[in-house]
Amino acid sequence: MHEMGLALEIIDIAVASIPAEMEAARVESVNLRVGKLSAIVPESLKFCFDVAVKETRINGAELNIEQVPVVAMCKVCGFQWTIEEPAFSCKKCKSGDIELISGKELDIVSIEVIDKDDAE
Ligand SMILES: [Zn+2]
Repeated sequence: MHEMGLALEIIDIAVASIPAEMEAARVESVNLRVGKLSAIVPESLKFCFDVAVKETRINGAELNIEQVPVVAMCKVCGFQWTIEEPAFSCKKCKSGDIELISGKELDIVSIEVIDKDDAE
């Protein structure tokens, strides 16, 4: 299970994203894009994040995971389509020379930081 290591990495990045001059800043949420073929189980990653975040400066931050569909592209005819299951041939020309062009990503899209100085 590599989700815990990943959760810790995401937390590190989120903590580092807080500007130094915003001492009271709080990370409200971390928005993540995960490809359906990235071998990440979103529920498991979210669970690890929620557990690990309690020990950190960004306690209370929420992890939002958006799942990205798997898109394949045929190298012969250029046709692109979204697949639910791994596919091995082009839907249009039946060529076996295809490439998965999305579905493996794991990106932090945005981190929402709130400066609490105004509120307190
Ligand atoms: Zn094709």
